Amino acid sequence: MSDKKPIPFLDLKAQQVRIATDLRRRLDTVLEHCQFVLGPEVRELEAELAKFCGAKHCVSVSSGTDALQIAMMAEDIGRGDAVFLPAFTYTATAEVPLLLGATPVFVDVDPRTFQIDPAHLRQRIAEVRAAGKLKPRAIIGVDLFGQPADWPALAEIARSDELFLLDDLAQSFGASLHGKMLGSQADATATSFFPSKPLGAYGDGGALFTESEDRAELYRSLRTHGEGKTRYEVLRTGMNGRLDSIQAAVLLAKLTVFPEELLARERIARVYDQRLGNAVTTPRRVPDSASAWAIYAILLPDEAGRDRVQAALRADGVPTAIYYPRPLHRQPAYSAQHDDSALPVSEDLAGRILALPIHPDLTEDDVDRICGAVLAAVS
Ligand SMILES: *Cc1c(COP(=O)(O)O)cnc(C)c1O
Repeated sequence: MSDKKPIPFLDLKAQQVRIATDLRRRLDTVLEHCQFVLGPEVRELEAELAKFCGAKHCVSVSSGTDALQIAMMAEDIGRGDAVFLPAFTYTATAEVPLLLGATPVFVDVDPRTFQIDPAHLRQRIAEVRAAGKLKPRAIIGVDLFGQPADWPALAEIARSDELFLLDDLAQSFGASLHGKMLGSQADATATSFFPSKPLGAYGDGGALFTESEDRAELYRSLRTHGEGKTRYEVLRTGMNGRLDSIQAAVLLAKLTVFPEELLARERIARVYDQRLGNAVTTPRRVPDSASAWAIYAILLPDEAGRDRVQAALRADGVPTAIYYPRPLHRQPAYSAQHDDSALPVSEDLAGRILALPIHPDLTEDDVDRICGAVLAAVS
């Protein structure tokens, strides 16, 4: 065992110290007015988030998963519908269509950027059409690990196939593509404020973005039990999907430091690229984009090597994580849904991927120590 202090994988305590004054002031305001759900902070946050990512409408909700669900409910997606999504993502992306009675159709990803593969997506849509059992209805593009998916290609496929295009931005709020922040590339965009995401609350939270006034209105209705113009007019089956004022207050405080945090994450990613690029496979940047660097994942030659490196790093006080040890079509919850189509990249990545710490409160010494430990472990 190393005698050095372990480096935190995520350091929410250090971040709290940086925002302490603003945070306390905002929380005190909520305690004074006592409008704990959809209070004034929620409206202020929605305006700030829309401005930040250049979207027309923002509707805050109770989590990233609920954001995905509300977006799918608004399109009436359900039984008999096929929803195309990457096999290499967090379970929530696939859980939502399944919960609504639709069938998730898994698509493979790019081996170096880890983003959904548009060529394979086209092939999967053609396969589902040819089989004639399910109706292709929607694509969920995921911006994995902080980087953007190929939105121009996905938008073209959605347009020509007349499919609803949903952006799962849960990991990548703050990322941009071709000089434009993510938030308006798809018909709707869902993000998450789970504490470990780049912009995280102190509990669950999420948001939907859309350019469509009609969709925004539907989302507001659906997050409050399908209510109409008055509270006791029920227009449709909705859910309890509202955001707490306390979470909005936390997010408003964090938003003030978010741009500098994104720069700090980018600086760390560059050091990793430079120091580790010759020893391990570092992530390839999506061209003409900026990543939110939720996760910095390297690839090792094989599973035994990955597990050995992870153990060596742990002994050196360097925590790592495996996102994701199993692609979704291999999970017990989804394997029955899968049509046996080969997804070789997702399966290969699951055995070789390893995420290094990347958060704005890592010091230069921490980053130096992490690089040294990785280089020693692979040599
Ligand atoms: C975290 C995450 C979600 C779900 O967000 P929650 O706020 O935890 O419900 C959805 N999709 C992806 C890709 C995620 O990483």
